[in-house]
Amino acid sequence: MVNKALNALQEYFGYKEFRSSQNSIINSILSGKDTLAVMPTGGGKSICYQIPALLFDGITIVISPLISLMKDQVDNIKSLGISADYINSSLTYKQTQEVIENLNTDQIKLLYLAPERLQSPEFCELIRRLNISQIAVDEAHCVSQWGHDFRTSYRYISQFIRELPKRPIITGFTATATEEVRKDIVRSIELKNPEIYISSFDRENLKINVLKIGDRLGYTLNYVNENKDQSGIIYVSTRKEADNIYEKLTENNISVTRYHAGLSDKERKKNQEDFVYDRVNVMVATNAFGMGIDKSNVRFVIHYNMPKNIEGYYQEIGRAGRDGELSECILLFAPQDIITQKYLIEVGTQQPERRVSDYKKLQTMIDFVHHNGCLRKYILNYFGEETDYDDCANCSSCLSEGELTDKTVEAQKVLSCIYRMKRDFGVNTIVDVLRGSAQKKILQYKFNELSTYGIMKNYNKKDLADFINTLISHNFIALKEGEYPTVILSNNSMKVLKGQEKVVFKEVIKVKKISENNELFEILRTLRKQMATDAGVPPYFIFPDNTLKEMSLRYPLNKEQLFEISGVGQVKYDKYGEEFLGVINDYVIKNNIEVNWIEKSESKVKVTRTTKTTSNKEKTHEKTINMIKEGKGIKEIAKTRSLTINTILSHIEKYFKEGNVDILEINFDEFFTAEEEKEIILIADEFGVESIGLIKAKVSQKISYDAIRSVIIKNYGINKI
Ligand code: ADP
Repeated sequence: MVNKALNALQEYFGYKEFRSSQNSIINSILSGKDTLAVMPTGGGKSICYQIPALLFDGITIVISPLISLMKDQVDNIKSLGISADYINSSLTYKQTQEVIENLNTDQIKLLYLAPERLQSPEFCELIRRLNISQIAVDEAHCVSQWGHDFRTSYRYISQFIRELPKRPIITGFTATATEEVRKDIVRSIELKNPEIYISSFDRENLKINVLKIGDRLGYTLNYVNENKDQSGIIYVSTRKEADNIYEKLTENNISVTRYHAGLSDKERKKNQEDFVYDRVNVMVATNAFGMGIDKSNVRFVIHYNMPKNIEGYYQEIGRAGRDGELSECILLFAPQDIITQKYLIEVGTQQPERRVSDYKKLQTMIDFVHHNGCLRKYILNYFGEETDYDDCANCSSCLSEGELTDKTVEAQKVLSCIYRMKRDFGVNTIVDVLRGSAQKKILQYKFNELSTYGIMKNYNKKDLADFINTLISHNFIALKEGEYPTVILSNNSMKVLKGQEKVVFKEVIKVKKISENNELFEILRTLRKQMATDAGVPPYFIFPDNTLKEMSLRYPLNKEQLFEISGVGQVKYDKYGEEFLGVINDYVIKNNIEVNWIEKSESKVKVTRTTKTTSNKEKTHEKTINMIKEGKGIKEIAKTRSLTINTILSHIEKYFKEGNVDILEINFDEFFTAEEEKEIILIADEFGVESIGLIKAKVSQKISYDAIRSVIIKNYGINKI
């Protein structure tokens, strides 16, 4: 069974091994035990029930609350070659009937169900007759009042299970780690002596940053500009803020969309799709966005405001880097956020008990923002996980980037001005006094007579406001809550004024690119986008970023090598492999790259990339040409040299492009029929022979790349030269 599981993982998903937590969870399920798995967002939960589903006889029912994403989820699984379907309220009665009929005849392995369906006795009656091997409850925390997404309909699950003629294996999956939620799940879905697996919540590829800077907008604009080609989410705490940031980014020509509860269903759906399909790069959203979005190439998550609790925060940043590539999470804190969150608790939480719990959680979030030690450790400890390090080397505390600068004198100027103004004012008025403004209000309060009037004239208005906001973020000044927050002095302010404490800030770290992609990666990304658009699927359905990255570093040149790349399984190879191989081969030839293929993926860094222009050694394409001259056929050469036909054809192209005029005796006819040749020539005459991809898109689907290449060499290459 275990071997079969690994085979299924390789065949369908193209992954070479299970993550360690997946191994134990899948073993437990395969040995017939009820199982509850707690894993962080992006940890790889779905495979844990999908692989057993493939190996068990009968159907696995997946209960999921994510109705709007069900179609996508199912399409994604189908694209891997697994038969799956779904039933939820978006289907008509007739469509539902059809799905149920197919279930009996079509060997469907996975059926996704919205929990609301279980409220209908008629529907349950239909489902009951199926041969159900596993019921997987996804987002299982939805059964718990204490979870943040409680769903009444989840309560029907246990009754449904009880009434089944034969009890299947029941499994639950969640990213919510608290003990009370866990207990609720076991009780509510009636897991029997379950094996419970809580995997590490550490997501090593996520860089966690907390920044306290006055100018959040400026920082965000800079950051997004610097990372223009990357996909990212910006979370804000209110709809108004979402609209505001969205507009600012639009004005700055950023490819951006938005998502919040104030938009119509239709607009939300469209915007979400634009983001998932890589039609736009940045999503500005409230926390209404993201549940179940499994777009794997989200490279950054910015929290423009501090979220209300660690659970929500961690779930939101978990949406970055699902493909395992380095990704950045940036929380931009300002104390106004605390006021907003308290307000949201006051208006949003009715039950007193719940309110107490919400305030407690908010406080933990505030403590996190002010924590001086390792931020990752703080979070993991919060989720009850011990860490064996104090320094994760991948959070803003541990990395301590940025020069330290002493701002004590400037801070004292600001603080003494606030002290002298005697009443509570907002930041802007303090800025006006410090800059010596002659506005009516300033004169009216006689602030022009203060010794601090105009002592910070050298600052411009925005920079000074940013500086004061930074002082607030670091607790050197307090905020007084009210309709318009005003600033007041705190204990810390007094210490600074008395010279007992220094104000030392880190220079704001210059915004950097998250990662530099190599040229081949960009070429493969463009190819993927084109293929995704043609197929009407999100690009990451084709291959995730990390698969492209590995291709771009290891240069697989034939089928066997491509299969070694993580994420390339049989079905994906059949659909897309040839085209990717074609592009990689072209690239390698065009750039004279000598590839020393190293079998193990761990060795990918060892691939040498050498330019051979100065070398006297026989060039790889010359070797092919010499073999042709010896009378060898293309297929034979490909076989002897362990290269694809495509590569051999590219060698011939290259030979002629170099200006060689000798006649080679090559038999191309085995690669195409006379009709195919005619069709290719027709298109090539119209569109030129520069882009093979374009020709491929225009000719009948059955015509292969090899055919196109051969026809072109035969008719446009050799003859013309
Ligand atoms: P979750 O549901 O826990 O948030 P997913 O099931 O969506 O996470 O998995 C997150 C990502 O990790 C997906 O892109 C998935 O394809 C990938 N993944 C899962 N298991 C493996 C594995 N064993 N090897 C490589 N990638 C994996």
